[in-house]
Amino acid sequence: MAKHSVEDIRNLALLGHRAAGKTTLADAVLFKAGAVERRGSVDEGTSISDFDDEEHHRKFSIDTSVLNATYKGKQIHLLDTPGYPDFVGAALGSLAAIETAVIVISAPAGIEVNSRRMFNEAGKRGLARMIVINKMDADNIHFDQLLTNLRETFGKGAVLFNAPIGVGLKFTGVVDVINPPAAPPQGIAVDLAAARAQMMDATVEVDEKLMEKYLMEESVTSEELAGVIPKALAAGSLVPIFCMSAKKDIGVAEFLDAVCNDALAPTQASPRVAPPAKEGAEPTTIVANESGDFIGQVFKTINDKFVGNLSYIRVFSGKITPDKHLFNSRNGKESRIAGLLKIQGKSNVTIPEAIAGDIIAVAKVEGLQIGDTVLTHANGIKLPVPSFPTPMFSLAVEPKARGDEQKMSGSLHKMVDEDPTFVVHHDNSTHELVISGTSQLHLDVVQARLKRRYELEIVTKEPKIAYRETISREGAGEHRHKKQSGGRGQFGEVHLRVYHLPRDITNQQELEEKFANKSKFEKMRSAHYHAKNNFAFIDHIVGGTIPNQFIPACEKGCVELVERGALAGYPMQDVAVEVYFGKDHPVDSSEAAFKTAARYAFKKAFQAAGPQLLEPVVTLEVTCPSNYTGAILGDLTTKRARVENQDSLPGNLAVITARAPLAEVTRYAAQLGGITQGQGSYTMEFSHYDLVPPNVQQQIVAKSKLAADEEED
Ligand code: GDP
Repeated sequence: MAKHSVEDIRNLALLGHRAAGKTTLADAVLFKAGAVERRGSVDEGTSISDFDDEEHHRKFSIDTSVLNATYKGKQIHLLDTPGYPDFVGAALGSLAAIETAVIVISAPAGIEVNSRRMFNEAGKRGLARMIVINKMDADNIHFDQLLTNLRETFGKGAVLFNAPIGVGLKFTGVVDVINPPAAPPQGIAVDLAAARAQMMDATVEVDEKLMEKYLMEESVTSEELAGVIPKALAAGSLVPIFCMSAKKDIGVAEFLDAVCNDALAPTQASPRVAPPAKEGAEPTTIVANESGDFIGQVFKTINDKFVGNLSYIRVFSGKITPDKHLFNSRNGKESRIAGLLKIQGKSNVTIPEAIAGDIIAVAKVEGLQIGDTVLTHANGIKLPVPSFPTPMFSLAVEPKARGDEQKMSGSLHKMVDEDPTFVVHHDNSTHELVISGTSQLHLDVVQARLKRRYELEIVTKEPKIAYRETISREGAGEHRHKKQSGGRGQFGEVHLRVYHLPRDITNQQELEEKFANKSKFEKMRSAHYHAKNNFAFIDHIVGGTIPNQFIPACEKGCVELVERGALAGYPMQDVAVEVYFGKDHPVDSSEAAFKTAARYAFKKAFQAAGPQLLEPVVTLEVTCPSNYTGAILGDLTTKRARVENQDSLPGNLAVITARAPLAEVTRYAAQLGGITQGQGSYTMEFSHYDLVPPNVQQQIVAKSKLAADEEED
């Protein structure tokens, strides 16, 4: 590999909605730059970028693939990201590795949900943004309207850098808007002079002198423009638009030229900043040059039997060679590197060194996670870890074959390491192993991969909803536990009261300040806070009616019930217990007897205190073509949802924000797909716990009654 300088590197991600042509564009770029001998094709299953079996089978990208090409002296690293919102984790992860986000839009389909989302996400991270209008050769393109929509959605900074010659079947090429030809060809689809004026307005804005010159109607040279374009891109005020047909290879070369000339070099982008290592210290600005300490960040990991265990690293500073050791800043672990790899889809070559700006991979370095900062000198630098949306689509899982429990848990955890939007957890209240992802499709892919990679088949079912139990008023209860069976008996009697514990209490100190103190419990001896369930145990025993040595047993009995629940078998929360009276027996009293007595007394008190179920509530954001708004709102009302906002977007789209109980929307993906014929999409995030309406509570309690009774001892 020819050695390149940091200034010659261009790091891009192709982002946008599914089927816009990102992968086709990636294949076209590789072929044009001579990085591959044969042009890959999505339709023929030969794409260099979509190489995984699952991707071939489904004909769309699931993971981000890393590609590279050298073109006109520039080292291009290209990340092709999945366009399905279901795999948004991979697309968001790639943003941590690049300087320039390329949003690919399909000309006939227009601006779709994921294009808008990725444009905003790139903007939030301070990245430069470019737009590719692909499929200019297709039918049904309303180019003027599309441009208007683009500028309405993405702002006045979105301007044509090249203009299409013809549209649809007549699309034959593009002309440069910055340096238009002296004699423009026939059939240009826009007013070239107007397009150039828009481009100038958006570009010169970042440079006062040039702006003045432009306003005074002095001529601005193309060199002067070229000088400020990176600045305008970095500032986010300029978003160049390129027209093309990736499939027919029209406009691809011009786009590649612009990438070389205009896309940001690592030295031109806003630098990454690491927060201070210690309180009071200064944050560190990471300078993209070869001479500094080596600093890199893991943005993707993969553990696949085809490509092995790879961690993909973006180098932000310094230089690394294969003889160095890698320090993981998160856990202080040091590892040898077997080699540095340059990645081309599923294949790779070893390279002698990597410098600031490069995107590389290392093989078989255990324990690297997405977001980890890697160093060669343990200098304490930790780059911020990217954040990902909380997955809310869950399924309970079991292995198909008995005895595969261990294997299943191990394999699932390996998948968690690779995918920041995939979570596995054991639900203590429902006793289920639950996997969560962004959607049914996401979890289908996980299942298919488990089968292919680990020969493991699992059975899934809708998980039980993690309800909670609480009380609506004070209550009291007492219980005498007395057993006489032959030899030594058992005796313990406990009297207690229960209270609602405010949810704003979060620790022992707040408990004592706001609730468990002598102004409320005059002779209180101690209070213990249990954060997990926002539960408090208060010892208010006067005159030793329960001997001191049995108080911990009383607390244990209460905590057991908190976990077990007393209404429908779900854990309790926001409850305080005050033990205030009891009786013992000089011979028969024991810890076990008091534990049981306290548990029953608590149960009676809880049931007398207006017990209520709480359920998880989620926030839904639904985006769809506006003609489906009525049907979506109608459906939401049948789901106990509260619509909170309704908005319209350019391109005839509507956004509806609503809160709904999780129990009502566990199958929303399929339902929304049905209502909108696959054109709607949504995000779902946990919001809070709320009271279950009485009629629903009755049904849940009735269903659980049998199980609860069986459990009783
Ligand atoms: P991605 O999901 O964004 O990566 O899109 P793909 O590259 O997989 O392309 C989706 C479909 O659009 C495939 O059938 C491609 O052949 C087709 N396609 C891609 N680019 C073009 C184009 O420029 N013109 C036309 N007509 N079709 C295209």
